[in-house]
Amino acid sequence: MTCTQCGLGLQPAVSAYSSNEFGYELCLEHQHWFRNLATSTKLSKEAADLYFALKERGQEVSLQKCDDSKSVDIRLHDARINIQVDGAHHHNDYYQTLDNLRTSHEAFLKGYMTFRLPANLIRNNIDEATDYIADLLQQHSSAWHSDSYMAQTI
Ligand SMILES: [Zn+2]
Repeated sequence: MTCTQCGLGLQPAVSAYSSNEFGYELCLEHQHWFRNLATSTKLSKEAADLYFALKERGQEVSLQKCDDSKSVDIRLHDARINIQVDGAHHHNDYYQTLDNLRTSHEAFLKGYMTFRLPANLIRNNIDEATDYIADLLQQHSSAWHSDSYMAQTI
């Protein structure tokens, strides 16, 4: 039993409390961190589930990264990829959809590709979605560490 966020060993009582309260194994410090994020941002359960699934696969990721006034659900640093997990309203609401396009464009201008995943995919197929993203990162990781990568993407 270790903290999914930092790898610290957990006492059984801390582990049990965290799993029961949050659904993830977190140390006391990261329980505090997660509770703050959950109450102060629009963090969805699906975005948090995908974040911890990617983290467990050893990916360098951030949760609820703030970019100017916009928040990014998950950021894959090395790959310069943002992942936004969208609820149904993201696709059914015209203004929301246009705003999503604008946000993705702004991120692109800063050198970040945005993947928008429906929350449904995470709810029903989190293992397949996480495997796909992890495979994608594996396949392209050497390109992301080359000097010419940013020149190609901007
Ligand atoms: Zn921790």
